[in-house]
Amino acid sequence: MRHKKAFTLVELLVVISIIAILVSVLLPALGKARKQAHAIVCLANLRSMGYALVMYAEDNDEYLPTATGQFNFSQTQTQTNTNQPILSQGKWIGQLTPYAEDELLYRCPGDNSPHFTTPRINNETSILAQRNSSYGLNFYLSESIGLDFNNRKAIKTGQHLTTIFVVELAEEGEYSVLDHVHPEGWYASYDKDKEMPYLNAAKQLAYQRHQGKSNYLFIDGHAEKLEFLKTYDVAWDRSSFGNIKYIANKYDPEKSK
Ligand SMILES: [Zn+2]
Repeated sequence: MRHKKAFTLVELLVVISIIAILVSVLLPALGKARKQAHAIVCLANLRSMGYALVMYAEDNDEYLPTATGQFNFSQTQTQTNTNQPILSQGKWIGQLTPYAEDELLYRCPGDNSPHFTTPRINNETSILAQRNSSYGLNFYLSESIGLDFNNRKAIKTGQHLTTIFVVELAEEGEYSVLDHVHPEGWYASYDKDKEMPYLNAAKQLAYQRHQGKSNYLFIDGHAEKLEFLKTYDVAWDRSSFGNIKYIANKYDPEKSK
């Protein structure tokens, strides 16, 4: 007596195609969940920095930490663990680290910058720099900007609490290996006849890293995921040509709302 086959070829093909369909349905969902997890870990990174920031300010007469340029730029320095940057005093992450209860995480899991492992050479200065963090300080709040030094004391003034302190740095280009961004220059590239992107900001910020948004830490220590245009947006005042007015500017303490 002839044994009946367990499966016919057609049945097998049907099963395989059903599995293929299930995989194709599930994979994008998994990818989306992964991206959401990246954004959540990143936000937690910034919240840890926020707690440290508030404690630092309490201990330092309400002054904020400062940015001073590259993290480390010696060609002889080597780095073995990107989560353990070589820290030096005077730089904001180094200033905050002693105030962190747990070790501060410096890398956003959604950050794919090659410069964590491959240093970047600056053609103008010939400085070789390596990225040590996904995050950069708002240079409006650094003492070396040449603006009112009291900006660094902004934490004292209520209306300044909505000022952004830390942003996510661009993954490529000059700013990928700096410890700060320069929002004071962004409007200069704004072309009144063009919509987004604001070219200067895009060179400095990873402003679309998390589902078209990016995470930001504010002076009061809270962190938020926001669209770039909720943080920085300008319009030309056509009645007096050449002037701009801010619709949103959460970087400049004088213009924050
Ligand atoms: Zn992030």
